[in-house]
Amino acid sequence: MNFRILRVALDVPLPRLFDYTVDAVTQEDVGRCIRVPFGNGEKIGVIVALADTSEHAKLKQAGEILRALPALPADWLALTEFCSRYYQHPLGEVMALALPPQLRRGKLPAVRKAKPIQVIEQAAPQLPELLPEQASAVAAVAADFGRYAAFLLHGVTGSGKTEVYLRLIEQTLAQGRQALMLVPEIALTPQLESRVAARFPNALVFSAHSGMTEGARSRGFIAALDGRADIVLGTRLAVFSPLPRLGLIVVDEEHDASFKQQEGLRYSARDVAVWRAHQCAVPIVLGSATPSLETFFHAGSGRYRLLELSRRAVALEMPTVRCIDTRREKLQDGMSSALLAALEVRLARSEQSLVFLNRRGYAPVLACPACGWVSRCSRCAANLVVHLADRRLRCHHCGLEEIIPKHCPGCGNLDIHPFGRGTQRLEEALAARFPNARILRVDRDSASTPKKWQALLETIHEGRADILVGTQMLAKGHDFPRLTLVGVVGADAALFAADFRAPERLFSQLMQVGGRSGRAALPGEVLIQTEYPTHPLYQALEAHDYPRFANSQLGERRAAGFPPFVFQVLLRAEARQLDDALAFLKVAAATARELLPEGVSLYDPVPMRLYRVMALERAQLLAESMSRPALQAFLARWVSRLYLQKAPRDLRWHIDVDPLEF
Ligand code: ADP
Ligand code: ZN
Ligand code: ZN
Repeated sequence: MNFRILRVALDVPLPRLFDYTVDAVTQEDVGRCIRVPFGNGEKIGVIVALADTSEHAKLKQAGEILRALPALPADWLALTEFCSRYYQHPLGEVMALALPPQLRRGKLPAVRKAKPIQVIEQAAPQLPELLPEQASAVAAVAADFGRYAAFLLHGVTGSGKTEVYLRLIEQTLAQGRQALMLVPEIALTPQLESRVAARFPNALVFSAHSGMTEGARSRGFIAALDGRADIVLGTRLAVFSPLPRLGLIVVDEEHDASFKQQEGLRYSARDVAVWRAHQCAVPIVLGSATPSLETFFHAGSGRYRLLELSRRAVALEMPTVRCIDTRREKLQDGMSSALLAALEVRLARSEQSLVFLNRRGYAPVLACPACGWVSRCSRCAANLVVHLADRRLRCHHCGLEEIIPKHCPGCGNLDIHPFGRGTQRLEEALAARFPNARILRVDRDSASTPKKWQALLETIHEGRADILVGTQMLAKGHDFPRLTLVGVVGADAALFAADFRAPERLFSQLMQVGGRSGRAALPGEVLIQTEYPTHPLYQALEAHDYPRFANSQLGERRAAGFPPFVFQVLLRAEARQLDDALAFLKVAAATARELLPEGVSLYDPVPMRLYRVMALERAQLLAESMSRPALQAFLARWVSRLYLQKAPRDLRWHIDVDPLEF
């Protein structure tokens, strides 16, 4: 049957499709890219439906259909439609994010003929025999091949989670199906890529992340689309790879905040992956040492199945974790005598230590004690951070830089000081105290490019550093065999942060960074400097008891009415003037009250905590409900009204569903 009208999704910020006329198309063309006139120019869109009639008059004639490329499959279209609906984001923009840039411009890399589907047999070289818990985890997931089932694989770093993923991928490939594996930051985990490639020499493994060249990204996308790719390994973006023979999804470090995109389409790749597993009827494994409280909650309620790996596969012992009470001690450059002594011992034994401070720069602020002047960013509601290494003040939110002034800009006082402590200052203090030690700072300043980062990693691996000073960059996924001590300084602030997710993040960060020590034959020790040594969070860390911590957090969240016990949506607005943003939200709130169903509550518009960034002022409005369907239904009606609401020209707004940051 031939149709005369096409519905096309285009990359424009409007929540609608665009109709065009054609001479003849068939159902086969749904999912194909097409060139269409738009405004005075031309755009490439995706055909999402065919029709006989249109509610719009004077339709334009569509251009060429790009038939050299296989059509995007129906399940991929359904996936993007789900994201558009769930996150209230225009479908064309969702697709523009999901498609590689070259395809979006209509440029097609040479597409090879699809090879016949191959059953990949592995040479199976001397693989380690699985530990009993690993074996039962593999068996439990494999029993659900071919249908939807969600698993939480909970196991400390080094407990052999990756080995479980690899065995499951092996079985998936043996059935002639594709595996999708999502990881938080591929730039930080090239080891995983090579581990996967080495394990499956006969399989076609493609990476998908934003750091790749455009050509490589398109080739991977097309290989996935035409079914040649066996394994797709990537960051959150990879969740949109079309996979016609998908058999398994793995999300490693599922708690990691980088699975949530913080701009444009604010999607959670983990949540989208769960939806996709359901839609494609395949099992999904969410792995972590410190699962997100949402996932842990689902595992407790039976919605996900819990698989536990309770001990490390190689190192026999977990590192010992101990708090150092700093209340009665005068610290030396922020460090206690116990920590300094422990560092001394490691130096004497030529083992490595890591001092963890999650704040880069020299000091968080420069201030004048005479008049109270502090280094503020002129564009943000934030302080300029002192970077002594290059004699700059720098804003960590907008990148603004200034030279460090010689005297106070307020009163001319020459005696102005950096206050507080960042990694550079710690590095300086350690160098003064241990003049013979080789000290290496690892943060986003010293590892500003992948090349520098690789060089730093090599220096550490080759044992050419004695003391590492680092931020959370060092926390993830690296094995440093000679590292036996981790000192944590400056962590207390997160215990009492206004953000209700701060303790969850702190726990997982400290667990991860602590997991860097004692990974091989040498036992590890973690020393946490704190003024709150009896805080339940630290006590749970000392006991390596994630469930205890998680259950107490869930108790607090339930009492306070926070996620996962409610579902939340934020409407944010930003403008040159905070008043404009607030005024917009007030009107939006009035509209919302007209539509508000039973069981959905609405708060008042408020300025964001960091209310000014890059000279834009920001405010937000929260709606929440215990019922996701009720919230979703309300949201759809509300957002369609927001598109019609008048706003000053410089105002931008967006919706954030299941927001992580407030
Ligand atoms: P995780 O992903 O939980 O951090 P990995 O799968 O990377 O753990 O395993 C940690 C280390 O233990 C790796 O060097 C791995 O090769 C090894 N390992 C995993 N499972 C086993 C096993 N059953 N027997 C021996 N070594 C194992
Ligand atoms: Zn002054
Ligand atoms: Zn700034």
